[in-house]
Amino acid sequence: MFYQIEHTPLVHEYGHLVEAALLTLPKRMLNIVYSAMDEILWPPSWRQSPAIRARATALGCSIDGLLVSNWPTIHAANHGPHRSQLIDLLAVPRITPLLGEYAATSAQELFAEMFALSIDATSPQLINTLSPFRSALIAVGLTTK
Ligand SMILES: [Zn+2]
Repeated sequence: MFYQIEHTPLVHEYGHLVEAALLTLPKRMLNIVYSAMDEILWPPSWRQSPAIRARATALGCSIDGLLVSNWPTIHAANHGPHRSQLIDLLAVPRITPLLGEYAATSAQELFAEMFALSIDATSPQLINTLSPFRSALIAVGLTTK
């Protein structure tokens, strides 16, 4: 378990601004950052696991529903009972130990919490885990080392 709750709320809020800036960039740049998040949260080895795919199928969902680009936004009033189960049973147990419970509440909070921890993490292991996200933000010009 990596999660540390000590990061400052201001850094979290700044993460929302960074995502807002990201959304103004060409879609290929958005894909660079969201793909990095997907690699961290659901690496291909996990996503392609027969057991994980079977659980998603049993819930009537595709595992691709977990991709950050498909994650329900804070504005999604209802994303369906099957999708909710997919998130509750498969996504939340992966997100919470890494980024905390709040990160699992919506796409926006997921981004902001990952951003905040990529800045404030003190655990070398967490810093290393989140480094592809930082590298993606650098690659699209939204942050520096
Ligand atoms: Zn927030």
